[in-house]
Amino acid sequence: MPRQPLDAFSAGLPADTRAAVYQSTKATHEKRTRLLYDQFADPDELRRIAGGIKQHVIENLDRMLPAAEARLQANGAQVHWAATADDACTAVLRIMQARGATKMVKAKTMVSEEIGLAAFLARHGIEALETDLGEFIVQIDGDHPSHIVRPIIHKNRREIARSFERHGLGPYNDDPTIITRRARQFLRHKYLQADVGLTGANFLSVESGRLVVVTNEGNSRFCLAAPRCHIALVGLEKLVPRDRDLGLLLNLLARSATAQQLTVYTEFIAGPKAAAQPDGPEEMHVIFVDNGRTAALASDCREILRCIRCGACLNVCPVYRQVSGHAYRSVYPGPLGAVLTPLLAGDKFPEFADLPKASSLCGACHEVCPVDIPIPDLLLRLRAKGKAAGALLAAAGTPSMGAWALLASQPLAWKAALLGGKALDFLPTKLLPLPALQAWAQKRTLPGWRGGEFRRWLKRRNKA
Ligand code: SF4
Repeated sequence: MPRQPLDAFSAGLPADTRAAVYQSTKATHEKRTRLLYDQFADPDELRRIAGGIKQHVIENLDRMLPAAEARLQANGAQVHWAATADDACTAVLRIMQARGATKMVKAKTMVSEEIGLAAFLARHGIEALETDLGEFIVQIDGDHPSHIVRPIIHKNRREIARSFERHGLGPYNDDPTIITRRARQFLRHKYLQADVGLTGANFLSVESGRLVVVTNEGNSRFCLAAPRCHIALVGLEKLVPRDRDLGLLLNLLARSATAQQLTVYTEFIAGPKAAAQPDGPEEMHVIFVDNGRTAALASDCREILRCIRCGACLNVCPVYRQVSGHAYRSVYPGPLGAVLTPLLAGDKFPEFADLPKASSLCGACHEVCPVDIPIPDLLLRLRAKGKAAGALLAAAGTPSMGAWALLASQPLAWKAALLGGKALDFLPTKLLPLPALQAWAQKRTLPGWRGGEFRRWLKRRNKA
């Protein structure tokens, strides 16, 4: 992950990467909006209901988690609890070592990225192979995902073809069909050789103990079918109270994430294989991962734990579209990451103090969120927290905001600045005071004064 502040990273982003991210996110967002509003009479009401279900979960985690544990155990799964990323990685390692396992195939799971599982297992001599095509490409390149749903949104097919050639997956060919076929051929053998299959969970029903995993490539099904042992990494917040809540949440997730009515594969996993079943894992382990979630739950930004990782807020965010995902220095980019990353970071919050500022506060992220998370409000709360901790002063870009705050809090200086601004309207570009302002004005026209200044209007209103 880059260590630079977000704006510095963004300044060095190649123009074609920026254009690819912009076009792709814009197209997905527009398709999602058409699909939702064509097919549902009142999508906003559905968002509110879905948000209510998830809010109910996070308000009642203390009793829902033990209930989910009991249900999973009754279904034959073994349940583990991990307070930190290290605990979660160690739990996976112990399960593998107990079986003498050395090979794992992984379906796409953000929580495994969050805890750095693949690198941890590699240090202990265990191969953990990504099987989602995007994640596979990211892994062979030693790269990181830049979007939570489309990990290689920052790459084009020529780069991928070169990468396949470098890694012995066939001579250069940038036809997407050929790329996909080669990855499929390579991965098929790996499924059969693997000792353990690892998935995440999009949802976990407290009522039935069923894990729900959605994909579009069917790779999670192979991860579940071939190996003898299944491990699921589950964030504490992934619960839903009842099976019937899944109807609404799955519909909203697919439309919001990939503008589909439903993802191509939706797996419901109710435990290890039964005696009468010919295939499937004999052993199933569910690891509940905290890693900062209970601290987020105790904060005034707990609504972010409603998130179902659809990526819609990334696709619509004007900042994400310009800076791309790696600028956020975390597995969770965009508006979601700008809130969740500082919360999960806990003590390391000042390191991520610039993230809550990576927003124009336009409100688009809230409008698209399928679980109605008021992201702009949460960003403001984190900004206030950062300011109180003095963290924002250390973050890049603050001096200019500090100067602005000084000006805006001095009535006389503010009036003088407004008059100066008005005068700029009448000055020819080359007479503007600063070279940067001249360059700016060459490409833009300031909107003309429309009269009825706000301060005068307010004074009149207060007198009335
Ligand atoms: S915050 Fe909302 S829109 Fe963003 S990824 Fe999470 S559920 Fe989707």
